[in-house]
Amino acid sequence: MELGITGRWAIVCAASKGLGLACARALAKEGVNLVINARGNETLQAAADELRQLAPGIEVRTVAGDISEQAVREQVLTACAQVDILVNNAGGPPPGDFRDWQREDWLKALDANMLTPIELIKACVDGMAERGFGRIVNITSGAVKAPIDVLGLSNGARSGLTGFIAGLARQSRLAGNNVTINNLLPGPFDTERLHKTLSAAADANGTSVDSIGEQRRKQVPAQRFGQPDEFGAYCAFICSAHAGFLTGQNLLLDGGSYPGTF
Ligand code: NAP
Repeated sequence: MELGITGRWAIVCAASKGLGLACARALAKEGVNLVINARGNETLQAAADELRQLAPGIEVRTVAGDISEQAVREQVLTACAQVDILVNNAGGPPPGDFRDWQREDWLKALDANMLTPIELIKACVDGMAERGFGRIVNITSGAVKAPIDVLGLSNGARSGLTGFIAGLARQSRLAGNNVTINNLLPGPFDTERLHKTLSAAADANGTSVDSIGEQRRKQVPAQRFGQPDEFGAYCAFICSAHAGFLTGQNLLLDGGSYPGTF
């Protein structure tokens, strides 16, 4: 399917690896010019080179830095003269017990996983509406629908973002001008983050990563972890010209893990 977004410009945050990079790859294949960001410059440059090889016709710009810092967000926005597509992403907060978390831990999680996407959306959304095209995708987590106890910082911060988006996406000033805002909720995807989580679980249980990985895979009805490129392809469709009637949704990609009807 031709997605109808060739020549558009996209910002993809936290995109040197994993799900962010997969979204950037899928957009690159559609001929979308990119501004990608991550903290580590070396891996970011390697990702940019890969994208340029994948799609020689597009322009790929990089901004190294923590996206939860205002100065970095400003650089990202400046690098992208016209934001047609915005993919919000950042690392997830650490697991733990809420009894151990201080106010600073909460502020960090809220900054990265709620306030940063809101600030970027604020900077882009009215221009998108004026131009009659905008696609915003927030990478959140399956834990928004089915909270995971030890991920309380993530459950809380991402739910805050989700509630805010539910109202914003339905403004007729946006939806009526072909600006869509949706959240993509990953279940277990085969990325570095998942491997770190499995490795920590293996250490805690005194077992091997392979054994924990096998147990986790069997809990997924699809009997496997998602592949990042599957996630990227879905993201690219939501950003496509065909997806203008899809807004304000929380879209789960979890191989059937969420056990509810709705
Ligand atoms: P990943 O493989 O660890 O990749 C994370 C990417 O984000 C890297 O490029 C990293 O590069 C960048 N990054 C992290 N923090 C950043 C920051 N503050 N500013 C800029 N860039 C930053 O992780 P992933 O699996 O793709 O996960 C992406 C998001 O989905 C996370 O929020 C995660 O919690 C969520 N999620 C993932 C899964 C899963 O199974 N994979 C499931 C549910 C939710 P640098 O470290 O160099 O900055």
